[in-house]
Amino acid sequence: MTMMNRRQFFYSGAAGAAMLTRATRGFTAAENYDLIIKGGRVIDPSRKLDAIRDVAIAGTRIARVEADITATATETIDARGQLVVPGLIDIHTHAARTAEGPGLCLADGVTGWIDAGSQGADHIGDTVAVAKSAPQRGRVLINIGRAGILPEGDTMDIARADVSAAKDAIAKNRDFIVGVKARLSRDVAGANDFEVLNRAKEVATGFGLPVMIHMGQTVSELPKLIRLLKRGDVVTHMFAPPPNSIIDDRGKILPAVLAARRRGVWFDVGNGQNGHLRWDIVERIMQAGFWPDTFSTDWNVNSPTTGVIDFPNCMSKFLGFGMSVDQVVARATVNASRTFDVFRDRGTLKVGAPADVAVLELREGTFEFLDNYQNKRTGRRRLFPSATVLGGKRIPRT
Ligand SMILES: [Zn+2]
Repeated sequence: MTMMNRRQFFYSGAAGAAMLTRATRGFTAAENYDLIIKGGRVIDPSRKLDAIRDVAIAGTRIARVEADITATATETIDARGQLVVPGLIDIHTHAARTAEGPGLCLADGVTGWIDAGSQGADHIGDTVAVAKSAPQRGRVLINIGRAGILPEGDTMDIARADVSAAKDAIAKNRDFIVGVKARLSRDVAGANDFEVLNRAKEVATGFGLPVMIHMGQTVSELPKLIRLLKRGDVVTHMFAPPPNSIIDDRGKILPAVLAARRRGVWFDVGNGQNGHLRWDIVERIMQAGFWPDTFSTDWNVNSPTTGVIDFPNCMSKFLGFGMSVDQVVARATVNASRTFDVFRDRGTLKVGAPADVAVLELREGTFEFLDNYQNKRTGRRRLFPSATVLGGKRIPRT
């Protein structure tokens, strides 16, 4: 252990007494770690690290990230030829719709997720219960529509955007509701979009929480909606095709969108299945240099059979639009950790951090990637989930 690493460790913000005890034991006793991930290409954008390293884990924390750690370990993962990255954080999923959701996406490397508005005030207890019992850290956004996602449109009836019901639900579940979701497209909110967003903001502001908007194909012009967003709010489905996409017909990002990013609004992918992603729009927005802050899948239990497949697949799509592997990893790890406070200590492999790790395989070949319109693009590289470590424990393969 070098002095630099030792210093980094002892001054790491999360260091409590228990951690220090564990660390001291790690340094002085004959070194034996609980788990060592050996020989992988460690990509940790939080520290600008991209190199072959071993990752040693003691208990639930990252203990060392160094070349050739010779200490013994109770368990070893041979990661040679694979990528070792911080556990993936997916900020737009519907993982809390069913009890099995969290375990399924955990196998894809997702060690933190947000359920983005599956339920509103009437049934928020259902999603909160799934989050509470999830193996990994999961939190929910409350849908401003009190009945949650409805086939006829969550807030087509504006009475469903019930401010006091949402406030009551948050007050009762402060630890698990981390924001408010406003789904604003024409088939969800109709002409109510602006009022729905105002109500979502009213609810969120009272608790100091962010709002996530689902944009694209809205009745209102996008700038009118986006001007309501403040620092820390999230725009998901940023690659939604017109009407009301973030780019105009001549390939210019709308000034209101640029202004929103400047004031600290996050722009998120939200891959999804219908209406949210079309390759020609992705191409133009990426070419305009307006890259996503975060990736997310809009994951559901049926995702393996849709164009989503899994989070590593959604990440891989952007390798074909000029992004490097570490830029892709950043958006699924350190960037995502900044969007919701609950993930502040995640998305990193720094010494002392929770030992959440995704081992991914970067395969070369010919791979087809789907948008939401059955258009295919071919890529030469694709990431596959290989192993997940959560809180220092390797997740058994399912
Ligand atoms: Zn969604």
